[in-house]
Amino acid sequence: MNQPEKIAVKQADDGMDLYKKREKIYQRHPSGFFQTLRVATIWITLGIYFIGPWLTWDGRQAVLFDLPERKFYIFWFTFWPQDFLYLSWLLIIAAFALFFFTVLAGRVWCGYTCPQTVWTTFYMWIEFITEGDRNKRIKLDAQPMSLGKFNKKFLKHGLWLTLAFWTAFTFVGYFAPVRELFFDIYHLNLSGWAAWWMFFFTAATYLNAGWMREQVCMYMCPYARFQSVMFDRDTLVVTYDASRGEPRGARKRSLDRNETALGDCINCQLCVQVCPTGIDIRNGLQYECISCAACIDACDSVMDQMNYPRGLIRYSTENAVEGKPSKVMRPRLIGYGAMLVVMVAVFITAVFSRVPLELDIIRDRNALYRETWEGTIENTYTLKIMNKTQQAQQYEVGVSGLDNVITHIPDDIKTLPGELLTLAVTLEMKPEDIKGRNSTVYFTVTAVNDPSQEVTEESRFLSPRN
Ligand code: SF4
Ligand code: SF4
Repeated sequence: MNQPEKIAVKQADDGMDLYKKREKIYQRHPSGFFQTLRVATIWITLGIYFIGPWLTWDGRQAVLFDLPERKFYIFWFTFWPQDFLYLSWLLIIAAFALFFFTVLAGRVWCGYTCPQTVWTTFYMWIEFITEGDRNKRIKLDAQPMSLGKFNKKFLKHGLWLTLAFWTAFTFVGYFAPVRELFFDIYHLNLSGWAAWWMFFFTAATYLNAGWMREQVCMYMCPYARFQSVMFDRDTLVVTYDASRGEPRGARKRSLDRNETALGDCINCQLCVQVCPTGIDIRNGLQYECISCAACIDACDSVMDQMNYPRGLIRYSTENAVEGKPSKVMRPRLIGYGAMLVVMVAVFITAVFSRVPLELDIIRDRNALYRETWEGTIENTYTLKIMNKTQQAQQYEVGVSGLDNVITHIPDDIKTLPGELLTLAVTLEMKPEDIKGRNSTVYFTVTAVNDPSQEVTEESRFLSPRN
């Protein structure tokens, strides 16, 4: 199988400095089709995040990761520490989904749904409504401090901090009952750990989205570094069509497109000014590009004004831009897609067929067996029955695998929601019924009200003679 050819992703700084001095980016407020799409995606993701902990299900918080109780509630599911396999599985699915969508469409995750992008975009919008667009902000920053400037900065940072605080409150609200947390804050009665995490996430949000912004993507995010390995010549990326745009140069709008020796790029710099990471996409694909498509919208608006066809900067593949055939279905994409489908199917089946009941059997450690004065052999077990539902349950315990076994099992086995019940069970056999020194015995626990809740575990029945 031919390995797909990798796209070379350029480093923006070709100099020898280890660290490039940061230049403040004054982003021009972007608008256009892709920005509308991004704003919609951002509102949806923020909506899910902020509303999530306030939803209720069956009289409790619908999504709650209750660490002290070691229970994770997600709507009708309750997960226990024993269920961490599901979480691991979910993380593997998320990784494969990221691989799949990266091979298919480049960094769409970065541009549209990554929390760093979502919060940074929201923060930039706050900056835009409080301080104005790019030119006004450049002018404002160049001015000496005045009452007007102070008011604008105060308002911006106040809104940033409020949003950061609400983000932190919501985050902690996924781990502690959110309504109680709200009243604890209101009465200034927060626990130590809640106060610490609130402080930490407020600071992290404020600094990451307000101050560090593109620096997080460029220097802290590992995905930005390794994503280019997953790119090939058929991956959808934001590209500048140099064959159409070059040689670039300014010209009068009235000049006919066919009468100039210049390409379609009028060198207006709009694509650079709207870029949240401050790069020039005309220099080729760069690892700083988060595929937000702001430059596409900006350039399309310029093309409209010039009466040129849109798409000088567009989502395309390297093959397509070079006029070569571009393939959507590639072996690597099919491989990731197939893995993803299988893993999601297995996960859904496992979650929905999961029995909310757990059984552990511990044999009596003090005696392998006991001979009664009647000559029978007894084995004693401790059954640990965990009710993983949110309702009280009554169970029946059955024993199989041994002929004519006499069971000593309590009749009325009841548990509270989430309770771990410890039950002593004794099995007794007459010597003539025993088939060997070590026989297999099965314990089956069944919920009386819901026979689909049933688990069977194996143990051993030991005796002194064959
Ligand atoms: S926005 Fe378009 S026309 Fe303007 S500089 Fe960028 S590529 Fe050239
Ligand atoms: S180059 Fe274009 S797509 Fe990439 S980050 Fe900048 S504006 Fe967004």
